[in-house]
Amino acid sequence: MKNKLMSFMRGRYGMDQLGKFILVICCILLVVALLTSRTVVGPIFYFLALALLIYSYVRMFSRKIDKRYRENMAYMSFRYRFTSRWTRAKEQASQRKTHRFFKCPGCGTTVRVPKNKGKIRITCPKCKQSFIKTT
Ligand SMILES: [Zn+2]
Repeated sequence: MKNKLMSFMRGRYGMDQLGKFILVICCILLVVALLTSRTVVGPIFYFLALALLIYSYVRMFSRKIDKRYRENMAYMSFRYRFTSRWTRAKEQASQRKTHRFFKCPGCGTTVRVPKNKGKIRITCPKCKQSFIKTT
């Protein structure tokens, strides 16, 4: 049985991060479908979950490994952008009491300055443009 499965999967793409992510979304949709099963929108969530499940299987058994790999890369870079923004926001929130954050008007870089210093001139470490802010 195991050998059969292995020979079936040979040359096929298999599981990746995007595949796992799709399955997680699928589970969430199924839970939502269960919770809303008595309402009109229930079947919609159920159908969406089923469609995603089929999609993840199609990707897994796909022989177009190049294409699937590129899809996964696109997903990974999207996830990286999202999580890096999130961790930065969390970091800034934790330093909110002692520091203030300003966006440089020249290049858009976020500049961190100590709080409660009154009106100060801030020089951007990246493009050297200076601007005045109240901290
Ligand atoms: Zn700048």
